[in-house]
Amino acid sequence: MAKDYYKVLGVDKNASEDDIKSAYRKLAKKYHPDLNKDNPDAAEKFKEVNEAYEVLGDETKRKNYDQFGSADGAGFSGFGGGNGGAGFGGGFNFSGGFEDIFGDIFSAFGGQRAQARAYRGEDINVSLNITLKEACLGTTKNITVGKIETCADCKGTGAKDGKEYVSCPDCKGMGRVRYQQNTIFGTTIREGECQTCGGTGKVIKEKCTTCGGKGYTRVQKTIQVKVPAGIDDDQILRMGGQGNAPTRPGQNGDLNIRINVMQEKLLTRKGNDLYLEVYVPFTTLLLGGTIMVPTLEGEFELEIKELTQSGTVMRIKNKGAKILHKETRGDLLVTLKAESPKSLDKKTKEVLKSIQDSISVSNYPKYKKYTETPKDVK
Ligand SMILES: [Zn+2]
Ligand SMILES: [Zn+2]
Repeated sequence: MAKDYYKVLGVDKNASEDDIKSAYRKLAKKYHPDLNKDNPDAAEKFKEVNEAYEVLGDETKRKNYDQFGSADGAGFSGFGGGNGGAGFGGGFNFSGGFEDIFGDIFSAFGGQRAQARAYRGEDINVSLNITLKEACLGTTKNITVGKIETCADCKGTGAKDGKEYVSCPDCKGMGRVRYQQNTIFGTTIREGECQTCGGTGKVIKEKCTTCGGKGYTRVQKTIQVKVPAGIDDDQILRMGGQGNAPTRPGQNGDLNIRINVMQEKLLTRKGNDLYLEVYVPFTTLLLGGTIMVPTLEGEFELEIKELTQSGTVMRIKNKGAKILHKETRGDLLVTLKAESPKSLDKKTKEVLKSIQDSISVSNYPKYKKYTETPKDVK
């Protein structure tokens, strides 16, 4: 991953978005395989140029690339690959910009590649509420989303049984036509989407009854989501290709699931560690004892040694959140605080008074040091 994308596009590190886009357009045209049938190196160059633009043409990916030397950055978007199952992230993303540029290139060269235009369905964005325990240990959830799917009965053609159509006579199946336009400057030849077939290149003889000829249908779909252990609040799980189908042949959008971790009664989470703050009777800290603490695997008896200071933090190893894609876990940190009783009866007060008198100030080193420090503020 040491490729210098700026060099590939021949632009400066401080190049503006427009500079990058324009450099990319020039190079993509120069090396486009269709225009370089005799130059075998062009395809490789074309790929390289596209790879560079995919990163530098995207604000977030460019920032990550500048900072980390990788488009994925250090954040959660680097989730893709090697994850199996739901297939999170990864994959080439036909961003709007990319499609725009290709539209231009294809129309600039006679629209021969109209069929190859990449249509992409829209992403679906949802949020998913999970508990702290589910976030820390992972879970599987079913979510139901309304989405556009390619009609199975006609395979997206919109024609009955996927067969009852003919190639469009006006555009010869290309989906794009040239037409004359009369303007005050004279007649110009323009190129655009074929009106007869709506750019699909097909004329339907008999419509598919399932989708009414649209080629896609709106459905409610239940999708199983594998939520990985260690995920945190506000992170986004991207399920590539699980979004809306495009309304013309092309690529599905993604399903983006924003994780919302619900608040837990006692435990809070920071990073991979869990935190618990407990008030215990001051006598427990003085004399020692046990308290029950909640963990992700049920209650746990925590022993408190005698003469424990208020504010002591006890670290219980491996009782925190699992670490994303690792076998290791964070810790549980329990802060112990002394609670004084709300009231004292006369007899108890007398007992405590005699205890107070029996402990000399030298037995309280911190307090002793405090009393000996001059109180003049400088
Ligand atoms: Zn259909
Ligand atoms: Zn047509």
